[in-house]
Amino acid sequence: MDEALRIQQLRKQLETYAREYYIQDAPTVTDQEYDRLMHELEDLEAGHPELADPNSPTQRVIGAILPGFEKYTHARRMLSLGDIFSREELEEFVARVRKEFPGASFVAECKYDGLAMALHYEDGRFVRAVTRGDGLTGEVVTANVRTIRSVPMYIDAPGHVEVRGEVYMPKVSFERLNEVQTTLHLPLFANPRNAAAGSIRNLETSVAASRNLEIFLYWYQNALEHGINTQARALEAMHAMGFPVNMDFAVCDTVDELWAFIEKTREKRSSLPYEIDGVVIKVNSLEQEEALGLNAKTPRYAIAYKYPAQEVQTRLDDIFLTI
Ligand code: NAD
Repeated sequence: MDEALRIQQLRKQLETYAREYYIQDAPTVTDQEYDRLMHELEDLEAGHPELADPNSPTQRVIGAILPGFEKYTHARRMLSLGDIFSREELEEFVARVRKEFPGASFVAECKYDGLAMALHYEDGRFVRAVTRGDGLTGEVVTANVRTIRSVPMYIDAPGHVEVRGEVYMPKVSFERLNEVQTTLHLPLFANPRNAAAGSIRNLETSVAASRNLEIFLYWYQNALEHGINTQARALEAMHAMGFPVNMDFAVCDTVDELWAFIEKTREKRSSLPYEIDGVVIKVNSLEQEEALGLNAKTPRYAIAYKYPAQEVQTRLDDIFLTI
């Protein structure tokens, strides 16, 4: 097929899939298929700079803001992450960072499969929760996030604190939810990620309250202002403030150490009580993070290593989807 035509076709197709995923919380293709098509489009666009388009799905943090929710503009954009699938690409990422910062070290963390969320506190009091939305502006979902019991309403920290993390539905809650849906002859949810997103972006707070959602925090947005200068210390500080933080992370100086974390996590993936779809690798120094900055829609200071599809895949076309 003509490559220009294929580019147009892929852009349209990916936009449709993104709408189903982000707005309706009801995907019709697997994430792996979506990622495969996105990479095909990226490769084709790289070979045809004359066909560049800022509206292309490769250039935008794709997300959506549902009507009915108040909107909030993020002080610092909430970004997607670039993804990699091999040790070679991991080596390339480390080399790119080390070109600018030869002594850089890294933090490896699980990549939770849920919904990104920013939590805001003023003088120790929880004041606001905002979804990623389109990266610049998100939906204010404070009332729904208040129903997540592990989100602290008060923390021991002065001034403005913004932490970011992932709201998720534990596997056991997801299974129970679908059992209830079956008993009530209601449509099933495709996966815990879509069930969590649908619950949080529901105008009826009692829905979120009934869904047993959880959260892991993984960014301390304004850590430098609070005298914290590494990602590892930021995770520890959030943990000490009472936030749910997964302390099973690793500070790594070499690709071998990063790869060992990826392999160790791959082995225990299916036994974890929550879904993960990879490992996020971040530059440890927050000053280096700031200096590295951003690409068009992804940071240069972090990357997501994604695992291949799990052996048991939900047959999306076999089940009904709902929010
Ligand atoms: P992403 O899921 O690939 O990665 C970015 C997100 O990872 C961040 O926004 C954050 O929410 C999350 N994250 C989890 N753990 C983290 C941690 N420890 N540190 C930092 N961030 C962490 O990117 P995305 O833009 O949210 O979603 C794109 C992906 O969604 C695609 O790659 C695809 O897999 C899936 N998708 C699927 C369809 C479909 O139709 N099946 C459609 C659109 C998107």
